[in-house]
Amino acid sequence: MSEKNFPLSSEKLRAFAEKHGTPFHIYDGIAIEDRAKSMLDAFSWSAGFINYFAVKALPNINILRLLYRAGFGADCSSLAELYLAKEAGIPSEKIMFSSNDTSDDEFREAIRMGVILNLDDESYIDDVLRLNGELPETISFRYNPGRDRTGNAIIGNPVEAKYGVTHAQLANCYKRAKELGVKRFFLHTMVASNELNEDYIVETARMLFSLVDEIYQETGIRISQLDLGGGIGIPYRPEDNGISFYSLSEKIRKLYEEMIDKKGLGPVRISFECGRAITGPFGYLVSKVQHVEHKYRDYIGLDACMADLMRPGMYGAYHHITVSGKEHAEANHVYDVTGSLCENNDKFAIQRALPEIERGDLLIIHDTGAHGHSMGFNYNGRLRHAEYMILEDGIYKIRRDESYEDYIRTMLKEPEKA
Ligand SMILES: *Cc1c(COP(=O)(O)O)cnc(C)c1O
Repeated sequence: MSEKNFPLSSEKLRAFAEKHGTPFHIYDGIAIEDRAKSMLDAFSWSAGFINYFAVKALPNINILRLLYRAGFGADCSSLAELYLAKEAGIPSEKIMFSSNDTSDDEFREAIRMGVILNLDDESYIDDVLRLNGELPETISFRYNPGRDRTGNAIIGNPVEAKYGVTHAQLANCYKRAKELGVKRFFLHTMVASNELNEDYIVETARMLFSLVDEIYQETGIRISQLDLGGGIGIPYRPEDNGISFYSLSEKIRKLYEEMIDKKGLGPVRISFECGRAITGPFGYLVSKVQHVEHKYRDYIGLDACMADLMRPGMYGAYHHITVSGKEHAEANHVYDVTGSLCENNDKFAIQRALPEIERGDLLIIHDTGAHGHSMGFNYNGRLRHAEYMILEDGIYKIRRDESYEDYIRTMLKEPEKA
């Protein structure tokens, strides 16, 4: 079970919404920092343990800076994400570049910045050589286990996934890297998304630990860092249970002793690239009810839409919804909760039991702290909204609303001869 709370009282939220307008995302910075520190604490047995926060989950400089100060690095897959991480003050050695289908420009810039390259394909060795003349001292390869693992719904079956080097290619990648002068070898994988079964993550550790052995046997190369990727799930539904970093860490530690320590393969540093598990539960989309409509079904029309949160419309993801001030009222009405796009899947909830809702009510859509604001788009000319962050000494604005001027900035008002 996971309790669905909101950090502000309904009076405080009402006053804040009246002053600053709706909709907006608000993040509990205090809880995010605690969460980050608890992950580092749980894995402190692994010297140098780090989580490269997946920037795509919540790409706001202020959040990245807060996480960096707590001890995290950043995982990026585009130039813009690399620049955000830099802007947040994160040093290059704490930035992982887990890109795929990478352009020459991205490789050039990532090499110039000195971040860790996590190569998605054998041929990327040649790309880096062509662009840079040599490989950097540290290199990581992304592994795709293919038939050896089953993926899950969001990430898909590994055999069908475009990511990573196959089992048959892996040893050769390291061999070539070594011949080309690489000194430190990392191994990465990402086979789960929103996974709530702790043992699945433990199995990923087992798979990587056995690869460390295999690669050593086959090539004499010692892997010095493993990256278990992201994918640790969060309890979107109140009846779900989240994963405990402590219990997960303990299971991984036991395996490490058995499969790495006892075989003299260590030390191998453990790392992750979790995004969702760090910020997901601590973000909320607050939106005001503009309409209560009674058609063939009853509809609640919000001032937020898919531009603010895509997950429900895009893949039917469940996001818990509460009505501010009616947390304890009986959920005896059934509504579709919608946005304003001319697109019928612009719904935050379908046939959801909620208390009776009136125009002007503030709805809190929970667990929007990861893959929420960041996925938003401008379809229908809908603009993305502000982000706020709660800290000990008050609430801070960390992104303003988009404006019409932002929306047309890239458009030429008159055609320009090309
Ligand atoms: C998306 C992604 C992550 C983060 O996933 P979460 O589910 O947010 O933990 C980490 N690494 C890579 C390579 C990704 O694509």
